[in-house]
Amino acid sequence: MALIQHFDPPEHDPINVYLTGEELEQLLDYWVPRLGLQAWKINLKITRAPDLPQDHIQGAATWLASRRAATVHLLDPRDHRTEEPRLWYDMETTLVHELLHVVFAEWTDRSRSDIEGDGTVHSVCVEQPIDQISEALVALRRATETKKNRMGVRS
Ligand SMILES: [Zn+2]
Repeated sequence: MALIQHFDPPEHDPINVYLTGEELEQLLDYWVPRLGLQAWKINLKITRAPDLPQDHIQGAATWLASRRAATVHLLDPRDHRTEEPRLWYDMETTLVHELLHVVFAEWTDRSRSDIEGDGTVHSVCVEQPIDQISEALVALRRATETKKNRMGVRS
């Protein structure tokens, strides 16, 4: 799951990126093959805060690895509290974060007993690296888009 600003924000000034269901479906089509998840059936849901599995999270992923089926929940932007500047929310980065959990689904299932407990190991060994990778991937995609646009190429 993507905790709300659990770690330091990335180097650039964080901004909120709110996306529509349609935009998110397009980004899902972009990211699924790039993350090697084509064999999975991934259901994307924009979910109100009380319906997420925990408080103060921006996303969650659930899966049944044996069926290659996953659901990615993204916090409904209406429930994103903007009064706290540190609580930035970039829906694409959260989408990629949750998809990376699906990439690690098999590993997570097999090491479930290790990551229960107080959650520290899970936070340090899973959440933090996934945050770093998802932020890097989204920054890379956006930089590529900007470069293409500058060159007058339509994406
Ligand atoms: Zn997570």
